[in-house]
Amino acid sequence: VSLADYHQKSALAASQVLAGYDAERFEQQLSRATVGLSFTNETASTLEGNALLDMTVRLFARLYPRLSLKFPTAAAAHGARLSRLARAVNPAIEITREGRADTGVVVGGDGEEFDTPFFAGSAGWDALVSLSGAMPVGTSANPLGAGAAACLVAANVFRRVFLDDWERHADRDLIISTYSLTRSSTPEEVPNAGWRLDKSVALAGVGAIGMAAAWALARVPMQGTVHLVDPEDIELSNLQRYVQTTRRDVGRSKAVVAARAFRGSLRAQSCVCSWSTFASEGHYATDGVLVGVDSAQARREVQASLPRWIANGWTQPGDLGLSVHPTFGGDGACLACLYLPDAATKNEDELIADALGIPSRVVEVRTLLHLGTPVPSDLLELIAVGLGIPLTTIASFAGTPIRELYLNGVCGGALLPSYSDGQIRRELHVPLAHQSALAGLLLAATMARVAVGAMEPVTTATRLNVLRAITSDLTQRVRRRGDGRCLCDDSDFLQRYVKKYPS
Ligand SMILES: [Zn+2]
Repeated sequence: VSLADYHQKSALAASQVLAGYDAERFEQQLSRATVGLSFTNETASTLEGNALLDMTVRLFARLYPRLSLKFPTAAAAHGARLSRLARAVNPAIEITREGRADTGVVVGGDGEEFDTPFFAGSAGWDALVSLSGAMPVGTSANPLGAGAAACLVAANVFRRVFLDDWERHADRDLIISTYSLTRSSTPEEVPNAGWRLDKSVALAGVGAIGMAAAWALARVPMQGTVHLVDPEDIELSNLQRYVQTTRRDVGRSKAVVAARAFRGSLRAQSCVCSWSTFASEGHYATDGVLVGVDSAQARREVQASLPRWIANGWTQPGDLGLSVHPTFGGDGACLACLYLPDAATKNEDELIADALGIPSRVVEVRTLLHLGTPVPSDLLELIAVGLGIPLTTIASFAGTPIRELYLNGVCGGALLPSYSDGQIRRELHVPLAHQSALAGLLLAATMARVAVGAMEPVTTATRLNVLRAITSDLTQRVRRRGDGRCLCDDSDFLQRYVKKYPS
């Protein structure tokens, strides 16, 4: 079985969410897995069904080496298109129509093709996932519920393949509204089409989250323009979770690749530059910003450029989510409130000591950094304990200076630690594709909510942990810090904001 040539990145992501991760076992489980997707011609022919199938294939093809597609002859054209898409994402993938798969996603039909079928569907804004029976697929022009359903059902399939106790964590009958960010259906009066945005909106950061937002925005029934802002090019390892990319996009600009997908009514303009360049060169008056950047500092920069409203997507070890900041300077948190540094930025010695799991040995780390001598064997043993990896794994690093141990071992992924979720630190976190994609979907849904005129004047944060069954109480209000340290405590920023948006 040939795994994708960016497989190592998936292994790193899996190591961070699977308790007691073992690289060999992970590859075995992956190599044995045939995940499937079944659909009817009727479901594949709707826009919602099409979106659901498209996103599911984009997610599966990045991770699994074998995909079983089940469809009737009448749906052959859809099957051929999805096969082409899977191969464009991962040329090494094996696609079968024969045989029985252990588990799969059912979009229409009874699921008898799979030992464990997961039923996915959608109804406009709403994502539907069930373990018990067929889910309906809506006929609206709104792809948001369908896209979210694909991510949520992919999370269930992931747990089925890799967790022994997956049944305990399965979403049995799940409905999530991407409109209200709750576990109940969207009110019927909320329109599924005819959305219009007259003011300018930008997507800051077209990475894993931004690509998924772009996937959704490229399909929404919305009039308007979105600016896609990112200075970087796509690297091979990005394919692990950038859902809008295929193997041919490596080396191309992220913003340009994302913009190319837009064929609907919403126009996209790509800006191959940093956020600060974009904001200082004529786009200072951007009304709303969807934030898909990956560092705390980049998020603070977006807030400092004072958009009227901000929606921010994130993934972190314990959860993924969305914060919505409809204004600046009220009693709700601004984006910078959520990303203030808790202490002074760490020095390199502290950063490396922490990353190697030996925070108490920072003085020794500092000396080794200074001298550039090999890491002594007693410290190597402590690092093995600190990272929870076998001594034999770290033995190959004997004689290596500590900076190289850190760069190749930790950043390069050679020393995959058996983190259980929640323990890994933010800057080393590699999310699974369906985690990033769901955060991006929620970002796009916020823009759609603004377009139907339904943004409430309250700062909220929505959190989902897709490593378990989704809980209730997804969304909460978030108040500002008010400790005098944030941009929103600064009267210059407050006055500039009021001047910028006098109404
Ligand atoms: Zn603040």
